[in-house]
Amino acid sequence: MATILTPSSISVEGSFDQQIAWQAAMKAAIRSAHTLCEQLGVDPQLACPEAESDFPVFAPQEWVRRIKPNDAHDPLLRQVLAIQEERQEQGEMDPVGDLDSQRGSGLLQKYAGRVLLVTTGACAIHCRYCFRRHFPYSETPKGRQGWETWLSSIADDTSIEEVILSGGDPLTIADSHLAWLSSRLDAIEHVQRLRIHTRVPVVIPQRVCGELLRWLTESRLRTILVLHINHAQEIDSLVDLAVEKLRSAGVVLLNQSVLLKGVNDSVQALKELSLALVDRGIVPYYLHQLDPVRGGMHFEVDDDRAIKLIEDLRGKLPGYAVPRLVREQAGEPSKTVIR
Ligand SMILES: *Cc1c(COP(=O)(O)O)cnc(C)c1O
Ligand code: SF4
Repeated sequence: MATILTPSSISVEGSFDQQIAWQAAMKAAIRSAHTLCEQLGVDPQLACPEAESDFPVFAPQEWVRRIKPNDAHDPLLRQVLAIQEERQEQGEMDPVGDLDSQRGSGLLQKYAGRVLLVTTGACAIHCRYCFRRHFPYSETPKGRQGWETWLSSIADDTSIEEVILSGGDPLTIADSHLAWLSSRLDAIEHVQRLRIHTRVPVVIPQRVCGELLRWLTESRLRTILVLHINHAQEIDSLVDLAVEKLRSAGVVLLNQSVLLKGVNDSVQALKELSLALVDRGIVPYYLHQLDPVRGGMHFEVDDDRAIKLIEDLRGKLPGYAVPRLVREQAGEPSKTVIR
């Protein structure tokens, strides 16, 4: 396992000056399974071009650096490498009923009081198990003009207290646009909370730049960032720095993970992850059962094993370090808590 530095071993005063800008990191990302294998000393025969043409490989060097070389079973590599198993016919194109829950294109409401905006189709990493890997992103509104429709329907519905920026990954959008969207939401009186679902601070930590922190802290809204980390090995000293900056800015930090076969389906891996989160001030919020998406079914862990893992975890950790094991079921009024 890669060295995981503790928060005390980094300087909070530090900056990302030595790092290339996040946009350049996106441009320099690895976009081929073959290149990924070659760089990591893994058999290139593992790469599956058909799976890649369904859903391209995308992994920035910042994150790839945390993968152990010469190990085809590395828990990070498995999350991004396109392999033959993805060609299985099982699984659905829209496993959680996203399309039926649209109030307008890209504006999803499944639960009371909160709406979710599919702000972009772009991500800083392509996770092979992604439940939105087949989402018709090209049809959703992009940019300020398109977003006006969302803003007026949110303004018209006083039951909406929380707006969730999702995607894709909202933090792949330029800060000038995000600052505009945030200030427009800020002006809607009944909106109290702005939640951001993102993997970017973990994948490209230098994304947590001054500009991002500025619009996050300027807002009247309580800001909640839900990170997505599946394994403790994803956290390095630059992620620590990003997390510390967000925390110092008063942002509430939660994490959601997906239970993934061959990645984090052991008590040891889940325990290390939970403790790594808690020690950095991040609350382990949800552990999701895999959404049955076409191309991702080889990551599935059955419910009996999942429950056993959570029960074992509960026997080892303080209660606040144990995430809720949940599943998303289309048509239900909330996530379904399994344990
Ligand atoms: C998961 C999800 C949410 C958030 O649910 P919480 O239980 O509040 O975290 C909100 N809207 C949609 C459409 C979702 O899929
Ligand atoms: S970052 Fe999120 S939306 Fe993007 S591919 Fe990964 S799981 Fe899917």
